[in-house]
Amino acid sequence: MTDSVYDNYPPTLNPAQKDFLVRTVKDWATQNGLMVRPAPTFVSKETDPQGVLATNAPVTLFPSPFPKSCFEEAKALQTVYNKLYAAITCSEEWIGKIMEDLIDVDDFISNLWKVHLHVQKEGYTQTLSLGLYRSDYMAHTPSSSTTPQLKQVEFNTISSSFGGLSSLVTLLHSELLDTPPGHPIAYPKHPLLASGAVPENTAVETLSTGLATAHSAYGASKSIPNLPTCILFVVQAGERNIFDQLALSRELTRVHKIPVFRLLSSEILDHTSIPDSNPSRPLIYRPPHSPEGTQYEVTTIYLRCFYTPTDYKSPRDWQARTHLERSAAIKCPTVLNQLAGSKIIQQVLATTTGPDHLTSFLADTDPSLISRLRETFAPQYDLSLDGQGRSLALNPETALNHVLKPQREGGGNNIYKTAIPDFLHSIPENEWKRWILMELIHPPAAAKNVALRSDGEVVSGGVIGELGVYGTILWDQAVGKIYHNEQGGWLMRTKSEGVNEGGVATGFSSLDSIVLF
Ligand code: ADP
Ligand code: MG
Repeated sequence: MTDSVYDNYPPTLNPAQKDFLVRTVKDWATQNGLMVRPAPTFVSKETDPQGVLATNAPVTLFPSPFPKSCFEEAKALQTVYNKLYAAITCSEEWIGKIMEDLIDVDDFISNLWKVHLHVQKEGYTQTLSLGLYRSDYMAHTPSSSTTPQLKQVEFNTISSSFGGLSSLVTLLHSELLDTPPGHPIAYPKHPLLASGAVPENTAVETLSTGLATAHSAYGASKSIPNLPTCILFVVQAGERNIFDQLALSRELTRVHKIPVFRLLSSEILDHTSIPDSNPSRPLIYRPPHSPEGTQYEVTTIYLRCFYTPTDYKSPRDWQARTHLERSAAIKCPTVLNQLAGSKIIQQVLATTTGPDHLTSFLADTDPSLISRLRETFAPQYDLSLDGQGRSLALNPETALNHVLKPQREGGGNNIYKTAIPDFLHSIPENEWKRWILMELIHPPAAAKNVALRSDGEVVSGGVIGELGVYGTILWDQAVGKIYHNEQGGWLMRTKSEGVNEGGVATGFSSLDSIVLF
């Protein structure tokens, strides 16, 4: 049954129809800001020395079919997932025990842990913590006859991106679906397109409301005399996905009336300070461009950087992260919350032997919800000497159904299938504990779509879809009290079949939306 949905989808386009649809999507993208800064391989520095150009984000021409049951389940579980990751973040000792093993082999994890220890020693002055999360899934459909099951690829606790652009793709595909009769129709007829509407996507509203909630929970300025307050987006230099971020800051400014500033991670120490004389440690931001030299007190730090080792080019960057962490601003996320989202934690949660961590972390949650959440886990293993993971990874036959993941974010880091045994043999054995082994999720094999790449190329063929669901949570880290817990908005990313990785920013996949079946 599931196969038939994908078999004739998307409807075939003749050359003139394809031309029309591509042109429509290209223009729509520019008109509405569904854009990215171009890769230097596409537009060189010489062609655009002032950096004025942008191009369409990679986007599919059609929404992709996605099982309604999986979509509804992902939405239903998001606030439970939010709660779970807040509870893990509150269990500092538990995280510490897991990190302990990695510290001597993974510099990045080790340095993050050191930042936490440093601030803990001095004492955190801010106990409120904000999570803007995205839980990523695939519709696991190992054979055409099976009912699709929702399986989690990963849970993101830092820099969960694409809420801004994803809302726009939803709008684009909805407009294409809605083309009124008598108007040059963009989509050829297809039952799925006739019956289905793209579900609403409130990612921008949800994520901005999360940030705005933290902003108001911070309360009045702690500075003497009081300063105006703001939210600070801390970002990477040369960010190509800037329009995604601007969608959130615009919402914060326009709807929530909160001043928002963007600051490069490399400039944190140049433009922010924490007065020694103030034990509350407010984070003061002096915008270099402010005509009156106005200073602001930062209520909330939203990190769209610092998730990958390359964001820390020198010890000064670690100093900057520590500086932010020890400030009174609410962090989205704290170092602990970032670490809670590491792959190894997800592996430990998914382990079926040993203590039932889920039940301990979600003690006051309906047990049936906990079971449903557990159902979304794909089998995951560590590579310890006596563990099952090691033999599954080293045997080429079993490796074929697995992916090997390091403690990294941002795509492009995994080792797949038959490459796993050779890869493991190529690195020292004491480094194996940096990796976790995960069983492959098998999305429907027959899915197809057409994508317009950022360089204008149009590619069609077999695709794999990954659904992300957004959630926000604000809690008090000292007492575990939750003040705000919301689900809202989603992201569909579609990559070509045969391409292992799924990052849009890294160029492997396209932004998409869904029609439910
Ligand atoms: P990252 O933090 O780098 O985004 P992910 O766990 O999301 O790490 O892995 C990157 C990509 O690898 C995913 O987007 C997905 O395409 C693929 N992937 C990861 N885990 C699995 C899995 N268990 N089954 C199938 N594909 C996977
Ligand atoms: Mg991912």
